[in-house]
Amino acid sequence: MSYQSINPNDGKTLKSFDTVSDKQLDASLALAETCFQSWKTMSYAARAAIIQKAAVLLRADVDSFAKLATLEMGKRINEARGEVKFSADILDYYAKNAEQFLSDTKLNPKKGEAHMESSPIGVLFCVEPWNFPYYQLARVVGPQLMAGNVLVVKHAGCVPQCAIAFEKLLIDAGAPVGAYTNLIISHEQAEKVIDDPRIKGVALTGSVSAGRSIAARAGLNLKKSSMELGGSDAFIVLEDADIEKTIPWAVWGRMYNGGQTCCAAKRFIVVDSIADQFLEKFTAALSALKAGDPMDEKTTQGPLSTEAAAVQLVKQVDEAVAHGATLLMGGKRMDRPGAFMEITMLTDIAPDNPAFRDEFFGPVVSFYRVKDEAAAIALANDSDFGLGGSVFTKDIARGKRVASQVNTGMMFINSLDWTDAELPFGGIKNSGYGRELGNMGIQEFVNKKLVRTIDLAAPV
Ligand code: NAP
Repeated sequence: MSYQSINPNDGKTLKSFDTVSDKQLDASLALAETCFQSWKTMSYAARAAIIQKAAVLLRADVDSFAKLATLEMGKRINEARGEVKFSADILDYYAKNAEQFLSDTKLNPKKGEAHMESSPIGVLFCVEPWNFPYYQLARVVGPQLMAGNVLVVKHAGCVPQCAIAFEKLLIDAGAPVGAYTNLIISHEQAEKVIDDPRIKGVALTGSVSAGRSIAARAGLNLKKSSMELGGSDAFIVLEDADIEKTIPWAVWGRMYNGGQTCCAAKRFIVVDSIADQFLEKFTAALSALKAGDPMDEKTTQGPLSTEAAAVQLVKQVDEAVAHGATLLMGGKRMDRPGAFMEITMLTDIAPDNPAFRDEFFGPVVSFYRVKDEAAAIALANDSDFGLGGSVFTKDIARGKRVASQVNTGMMFINSLDWTDAELPFGGIKNSGYGRELGNMGIQEFVNKKLVRTIDLAAPV
């Protein structure tokens, strides 16, 4: 098996990489385990110096990192630059805050005194997706290396050059051999890694099907895991929404990163009295986007990540229509080279249509009209996913009341500013479990040890 770096803008193969042999894989795990023994004893300040240096190097070379992502997975160049800078911010955030997050916590038992201490658990196996080829890595590198764990990472098969560039970044920043290892391995080898006793925890960001198989394997081995999976987030528009502000967020929420974001707005649930107005303006704004080379700053719609992704998405839309959905716009591949698909809008999606439950990972809008706020909340909650969602209303208190009733891990009111280093990210239901980022993210893979001191008479 090989990892293929293919430019989705024109279908040209850039590079291929063979998976490593089992012997090489074993050697990588041994190096990681050896590294852990010294890395865990290093001071926070010493680890922070390396992580901060990695942030400095990222910022110094934003363009090279960004161009690689654009070439390998089609992210528009300005979005790629933003991702690189944000990845540096995440590294800095944990370099600055890890020691405080993991400091001892005093407890207040009725008798004696007690505290909790936090210690690293060992080598973690991270499996990461292509859609944010650096940010996803920063989300595990910042917290986990600062916590004193070390990482072996399987990145997605279509972004091998980004994966290698990030490993080199950490080596250039002074990380010891074994602190961060990029593994070019098959799914079968990934199973062996999870089984390996040197691995103490498993973190996956990816699809539901990958989550089921990786979490099951981790469970068999009684290893702690965190799962950041897919989503089908509701974008709720109430009748008192400021429509001029809502439309740009609707476009951004669906189309950012080519529509390939886990917490993208995927189901647009609009109260009937404002639905015609919303639909007209939303359709016009989507139609104004211009497909083109993602390396060109003027392009406002890039390709999908791979040819296979485009084929799969058109198939899903065809299936939705075959099950009774109405196409309001798009629906086909674009008549041009590369993995481009027309911006598509579906409506009349009945609950028995597969499109009602599935995630559309690309430029496909699912549009629903509802009679009122209560119906919007009920429809938002009629989902197997529970990652994020949003609500648009001029009444913030109302927005908060709606947000509280939607069953997801994250809710956003009047904007879709999804992620910041300091805010926990993650979902419930089929969107997975555990949180990345913020203080919660660094607590996922540490041993929380109780230490109690009490002066009691000896038991008789
Ligand atoms: P994917 O197919 O699950 O791939 C994600 C990663 O898992 C890749 O490294 C992939 O490797 C690996 N993988 C998949 N099946 C595996 C298996 N059986 N054993 C070992 N490794 C396996 O996901 P995708 O479709 O490329 O990525 C998009 C998905 O990720 C969407 O569902 C999206 O919503 C979700 N996502 C979630 C978050 C979040 O934070 N919740 C963030 C971003 C994306 P190969 O490439 O080699 O197959």
